[in-house]
Amino acid sequence: MDQQAKELLIRAVAATIFDHADELTALDQAIGDGDHGINLKRGFEAVLAELPGLAAKPWPDLFKAAGMAMVMKVGGASGPLFGTFFMEFGKAIGAEPDRAAVAAAFAKAIEAVKARGRSEGGQKTLLDVLIPVNTVLADGGDAAAINAEAAAAADRTVPLKAIRGRASFLGERSIGHMDPGARSSSLVIMAAVDALKN
Ligand code: ADP
Ligand code: MG
Ligand code: MG
Repeated sequence: MDQQAKELLIRAVAATIFDHADELTALDQAIGDGDHGINLKRGFEAVLAELPGLAAKPWPDLFKAAGMAMVMKVGGASGPLFGTFFMEFGKAIGAEPDRAAVAAAFAKAIEAVKARGRSEGGQKTLLDVLIPVNTVLADGGDAAAINAEAAAAADRTVPLKAIRGRASFLGERSIGHMDPGARSSSLVIMAAVDALKN
């Protein structure tokens, strides 16, 4: 993929977060502290600030630099978690990845998020989107299947009780709300898949 296509990919992912910042903040107002939209907006603004140089980098360096920008600029839980995901994805992906390499790197990045958050699937976090999406990716699902799973997985966090993060302070009262990080992860995945398939 050339530099221009990489730049379009980065811009598309940032744009979906900017477009949905209010929705993400509203989700976080229900079960957290109401800053998830602001946190991710700040993170992706930091990523955009590194354009165009960022898009000139090979995939590993591009993801490592984007992840680093998010870790450094975002104060909440999501900055280090998204940042860790991107940095570890970059470390594992290789310069000319095929689908198997992307799925393998995605799996390694998930393990790094689990370690960083001391969390696992089923706890009403972004992992509840990342894990099932990676299963579809590894099983060879097409763009439509990956995007459908991302959206469905975010929806499936609604009935879960939060076990990690601020939402866990609410206990049973976290039930009935979509997890903000699951929603934002699904948005990032859907935007990236749409940009890559064009
Ligand atoms: P904060 O909770 O610090 O205000 P954000 O609101 O930006 O940070 O992000 C909250 C999201 O981060 C949650 O919706 C959840 O998906 C994710 N999250 C929080 N803690 C953890 C954790 N320990 N492991 C995995 N994901 C987590
Ligand atoms: Mg928050
Ligand atoms: Mg916060």
